[in-house]
Formats: sequence, structure tokens, C-alpha cells
Amino acid sequence: MPINTEFSYRDGVMACEGVSLHRLAEQVGTPFYCYSTAVIARQYRLFAEAVVAMGGGSICYAVKANSNLAVIATLAGLGAGADVVSEGEARRALAAGVRPADIVFSGVGKTEQELVFAVEHGIGQVNLESERDLEILSAVAAARGVTMRVGIRVNPDIDAGTHAKISTGKAENKFGIDISRAPAVYARAAALPGIDPVAVAVHIGSQLLDMAPYEGAFRRVASLVHELREAGIPITHLDLGGGIGVPYRGETPPMLSDYVAIVARTVGNLGCALTFEPGRFLVAEAGVLVSRVIDVKRGATKTFVVQDAAMTELIRPTLYEAYHPILPVVQPVGAALETVDVVGPVCETGDFLATDRALPPLQPGDLIAVAMAGAYGAVMGSTYNTRPLPPEILVSGETWSFIRQRQSLDTLIGLDRIPDWLPRPRND
Ligand SMILES: *Cc1c(COP(=O)(O)O)cnc(C)c1O
Repeated sequence: MPINTEFSYRDGVMACEGVSLHRLAEQVGTPFYCYSTAVIARQYRLFAEAVVAMGGGSICYAVKANSNLAVIATLAGLGAGADVVSEGEARRALAAGVRPADIVFSGVGKTEQELVFAVEHGIGQVNLESERDLEILSAVAAARGVTMRVGIRVNPDIDAGTHAKISTGKAENKFGIDISRAPAVYARAAALPGIDPVAVAVHIGSQLLDMAPYEGAFRRVASLVHELREAGIPITHLDLGGGIGVPYRGETPPMLSDYVAIVARTVGNLGCALTFEPGRFLVAEAGVLVSRVIDVKRGATKTFVVQDAAMTELIRPTLYEAYHPILPVVQPVGAALETVDVVGPVCETGDFLATDRALPPLQPGDLIAVAMAGAYGAVMGSTYNTRPLPPEILVSGETWSFIRQRQSLDTLIGLDRIPDWLPRPRND
């Protein structure tokens, strides 16, 4: 059972496009991330075609899903702008060739330094989530004699129906300002120099498989736009966020045509320029995490496949109870399956990639591919247990390249300093 056409068995060995994952593992070691350019391009084109079909809009890739420069550059080359949530991500987008005007700077709680960065680099739009941010950006921009396009992120109090940790549009979530307070905040913003509050921004959550919550959220945005226009605030831009889910468990994937139909009938007649910010949808299916089995431990009640990737490489299973398909890199011969927990070497009970998963028999030394790991995988990596960050590989056809090297232990440990007032380490 292949994952998709770009990750499938060729002569019994899983390949990413034209590159054998087995050969890659021999060359780069494990664990490693491997991404398919073709999948990224396919997903981008699907999204772009759906947007064009409903009348057009800009696509700003939500960089936090996978912020590797090569991934951003791939999407920028296809025509995407970038949605960033920190100065670091803004710098990545610029370094990958995204034009400043095509960058939207979102996120809760920006520091003054980040707002200065946005102003001095001519970032296209800044989405703010509090009065404090509006006042600081106003002061920073006015002091430099520029006017910044500003969106205010509203919280429409809509249940996106996703895992609690990736729902962002309910009143109890920290994101945005309460939509009922929005008119007062826009009025305040409109009176400030240096900022032009012409955009409404909304993002209700991630991994939505049911498109219905968008309908309610976008309807609330539309009524807000009418209310603001009546109050003399000319809204010209809408930023509709991201959140389209992917079928990790083989669910029926959401139809982009349904999504854009909702957009068209809720906000399509407002005459606003639309921005979409897909993250997961563009990159999740493009990546696998490849690891090698270290040991198979048969306990009293469970069998544990211990392999060399951990929650430090892919935290989604333990953080979000997320499911990722797992496939042996070498195609199994028989049909026998065994129910196992796939765990990492980290000293945490929560360190698992899958629990109670039926997999073909695995032996120490075998390679596995954890699929649909291109989004919120490598970017959420940590070095807990002093585990160096894994390399990332980008494949295009028969060609592959390191797009991030494996972090060396020297680099990792070398960040630490022992103060002079502690005993010197003995190196004898
Ligand atoms: C995370 C985020 C996105 C992207 O979400 P996905 O679920 O990956 O599509 C878009 N916009 C904002 C403001 C975000 O924070």
C-alpha cells in the first residue's frame, strides 16, 4: 500500500519520487526527513486552481508548518507569498526569496523589535491582535514616516471541531480580539497615524476536515465588514487564514471546491482582496520521517518497536494524539501483522510515534517511514536528551539534496558555557 504516487514501492523498496529511501538512509544515516518537491507542487497547484476558480486571491504559505528555506523557496517559486509569525520566520521568508510585499506578519504578541523589523523591511501586511500592538506599530511606523497596512485578527467564537490544542477561533482561545469588540478597536486604529487598518484577519484552527465551521466564521467576518464600512472604515482586504486538513487516517479529504464555495458565498461579494494562508495542506503529505529499528522489546502486555526517531523529531503523536501512517521501507513479503507500540529512545512515557499499531513484523536494523510528516514535523523538533536535530532532504525526480544538515553534537553542546566561577572541567 503506497502512501501516494510520489512515495511508493519501487522494486520492493519505498522511494520518494525517483530516490530510494533505503539508499538515502545508507548515505545520510537515520533518522532523517525527506520531502518530495512534486507533492508540494501538486498541493500548491490544487489550492491555486481552486482560488482562481472562485475569483482569485493571494496565497501566503504559512511558514510555520515547515520553515526550511528550500521548502519556502519551492513554494515562492510556484508563486506563493508567506505568512510568518516571528521575526525569525520573516527573515527565513526573505532569505528564501519572498518579496517583502508578499509577506503577512501574523501572530499573538509581537515584540517592539519585531514590529520595527516589519516596518524597516517593508512587510506587506501586519496582522495585530491587541490594542497595545496597534499603538506600538503606529508609533514605530509614524516615527519613520511610513504607513503600514494592518489587519486586525478577530476571534469569531467558532468551534472548528479540531483537537483542542489546534483550535484557535473560540472565545476561550488566546487568539485575536473578540469580534464584538472589533468595531471599537478598528475605530481606535483608524485614528492612529502610521497604520491603515484596512484588513480583517481570521484563522479558526488547523486540521479542519469538516468545512462547515468556516461558513459560520466567514459570515461573522462579512457582517463585521458591513458594520465597519457603515462606520466609515473602508475594509479592502480579508485574510482568511489556513486550516484545511489532510487525511492522516485515510479520512475523506476535504474538498477544496467546498471550501472556496463557502468563501465565495460568505465574503465573495464584498469586493475585498482575499488572502489565504494554507500551511499543512501544502506540505504535510510531502514529507516522511525515516528511522531505523534499534530493538524490538516484547513486554508482558505489549510489544515495543524501539527506533531511532523520537518525540524530539516528531512530537505530533504525543502532543496532539496525532496519527501518522507508518510503513516499512522494504516492502513486506507476507501478510502477517503484529500490534505494536512504535516508540523512541527518549526517557519519557509520552515518547511514541504510534500506539497499538498493526505493522508487519520488524527486526532491529529495519527501516520505517513515518508518513505525512512534512508539516509541523521537523519545525517542532527539539534536542531533548541531547539529541541533535535530524537532517532534511529535498527530492526532485532523481535528484536529492541536503536542505538541512544533521546538527553535530559539538555544535549542540558547544552552545553551553561553564562560568568562570565554576570548577574547570577536567579534560585528562
Ligand atoms: C498556523 C496558521 C496558519 C496555517 O494553518 P494550517 O492549519 O497549517 O493551514 C494560517 N494562518 C495563521 C494565522 C496561522 O497561525
